Amino acid sequence: MTQHADVVVVGGGQAGLAAGYYLRRAGLDFTILDAQTTPGGAWQHGWDSLHLFSPAAYSSLPGRLMPPQEGKPFPDISHVLEYLTDYEKRYELPVQRGVRVTGVHDRAPLLRVQTDSGAWTARAVISATGTWWRPFVPSVPGRADFRGRQLHTAEYRSPGDFAGRRVIVVGGGNSGAQIAADLAPHATVRWVTQRPARYLPDDIDGRALFELATRRVQTGGPRISDLGDIVAVPPVREARDAGLIPDHGMFDTLTADGARWADGSLWPCDAVIWCTGFRPALSHLAPLGLRTDGGGIPTEGTRAVADPRVHLLGYGDWTGPASATLIGVGRTARDAAREIADLLS
Ligand code: FAD
Repeated sequence: MTQHADVVVVGGGQAGLAAGYYLRRAGLDFTILDAQTTPGGAWQHGWDSLHLFSPAAYSSLPGRLMPPQEGKPFPDISHVLEYLTDYEKRYELPVQRGVRVTGVHDRAPLLRVQTDSGAWTARAVISATGTWWRPFVPSVPGRADFRGRQLHTAEYRSPGDFAGRRVIVVGGGNSGAQIAADLAPHATVRWVTQRPARYLPDDIDGRALFELATRRVQTGGPRISDLGDIVAVPPVREARDAGLIPDHGMFDTLTADGARWADGSLWPCDAVIWCTGFRPALSHLAPLGLRTDGGGIPTEGTRAVADPRVHLLGYGDWTGPASATLIGVGRTARDAAREIADLLS
């Protein structure tokens, strides 16, 4: 049986919940479909020592401040999961779990949302599926020859799995720095980055990043990426200052036993961890043909330029400043809900 909601939100992580908050306030009929069976989106899968890079009060979704976590200025994952679970309940957001959207199709004037357990029709769709589900690993010569373990950020859990081993961590972003710092006391780590590691000034955390992103939208100003790539969260700062995580240039090729650099030097290792980022999980939108030849989906704010019934929320700055963060997604969710309310009225 096909069900109907005026708005279907695909994804029930923080972005989907923020969308739900504003859709409810706009008095719209909506449902949220989420592939996971439990609340929290990608936060359910982070590594054990992962902490937010902002204090709780600066990691809040609209309407409800994240309470502080006792003894932890930067909350850990369990606290984030508790907060998101409570948020969903508090605002009675209609999240249907264990429902994966397989395709969104144009059945003008409606959209048909096909899932692995039935179909929905909708007048508008907000896609809020995040990036965690599409890990990216670059194609590097010799990858298939390496006989050790290879894994992506998305699969990393704890340093215990690598105790006493030699591990290459690839990637000069936050995940690379944090995982290298996490491993360094337990394993022999070589952190490799494509360009020299660029730390943001130590006093910049997620709160300052959000303020910078906001100021840039309002008045121009430096791009955050002009200032650096890595937030010096306490464990990263400590490992850096102790000299535990010097960065090395990228190797040229993997061999059966390790990595080889352009100057011919070799570093044998047991594992390579690819902290090389994620891509937006958008395959469910493919039937709508929203992508340009260049591969991206052009948006104005959160709205797909080619189809005003479709909005994209989260993912990255291309759908709104800091919209892939807890504190930043609220503003873009509000704008999306407002535009959809106008469209449907
Ligand atoms: P997700 O949390 O990924 O939620 C998307 C949901 O959609 C998931 O439940 C998924 O199962 C579901 N879904 C996907 N595809 C489908 C489908 N086809 N059908 C139905 N459901 C589907 N942000 C901060 O604010 N502070 C931080 O400190 C911070 N640290 C981070 C650290 C790391 C390592 C990473 C990777 C990100 C961090 N972020 C941080 C960024 C961001 O807050 C998180 O990535 C967050 O999980 C993004 O939320 P989301 O709702 O956009 O996506």
